[in-house]
Amino acid sequence: MIVLFSRDSLLSYKQNLNKPLAFVPTMGALHDGHLSLVEKAQNDGFEVLVSLFINPRQFNNPEDLLKYPKTIPQDLELLKRIKTHAVFIPDYQAIYQNNQTNEIFIDSEIQHKFEGHYRPGHFNGVISVLYEFFNLIRPQAAYFGQKDLQQCSIAHLVIKKYFSNIEFHRLETKRESNGLAMSSRNARLSLRAKNIAAIIFDQLQLISKQPSTHNLHLVAKKINEAGIEIEYLDIIDIQTFDSWNGIPSKNQAIIFAGYLEGIRLIDNLIIS
Ligand code: AMP
Repeated sequence: MIVLFSRDSLLSYKQNLNKPLAFVPTMGALHDGHLSLVEKAQNDGFEVLVSLFINPRQFNNPEDLLKYPKTIPQDLELLKRIKTHAVFIPDYQAIYQNNQTNEIFIDSEIQHKFEGHYRPGHFNGVISVLYEFFNLIRPQAAYFGQKDLQQCSIAHLVIKKYFSNIEFHRLETKRESNGLAMSSRNARLSLRAKNIAAIIFDQLQLISKQPSTHNLHLVAKKINEAGIEIEYLDIIDIQTFDSWNGIPSKNQAIIFAGYLEGIRLIDNLIIS
């Protein structure tokens, strides 16, 4: 496995590829969800480059940034085990040369809703890091997880606007055996909390069987009673992230964010 740290090494790596390149951006602290993206890209016939970069610009909460798990030696071991072609571990300067900010913007209200509303500045950070990565790496494809559904939409918009040659892929959420969506932040939950958090996916599935405002309220109450402080729980249109207007339609998802033991958890379920 090739490990790259600088822009120059990344650029010379790109000169010597025998296959098209897929890019999987991550912030490290890898789990099976991340690995599933790499494996799918490999199965699709790509050489895969994974980045490990905790992007400070996308953290609206300094404490969350400070406490974000950092496990680079284990990450490298996991990536090596699944025969990842290369890993890029840049520092801040390698991504944001001279701390510059490019005037990158997407014309969509999506960035201001839900995650954008509760995490001010978060999507600006996501957009700027994706722009810098795509511009430098110029992959043929990029793979993202549905776990971060709204981020997927934002990434897709960045690709459509600035990098239309990149194939966009969104893959299903990997879950623990109790249904809890895998997340790097789960490492900070106690065993008790992990058991409690299983209720989230349980209840999302319940709503998906009979989506209604009434059921949303019932489920919100149950999740609250389990000790999880809900930030949002809603049914939205996947294209626009507009809240449900009560008319049954395709392309909807139930989205959730909340806090347990001070850890922010998100999840979603696409209603098919
Ligand atoms: P992160 O390291 O949290 O920035 O995530 C890097 C990529 O992995 C993003 O595209 C995430 O959506 C994706 N990802 C995170 N958790 C999961 C999961 N449980 N299943 C599938 N993909 C995931």
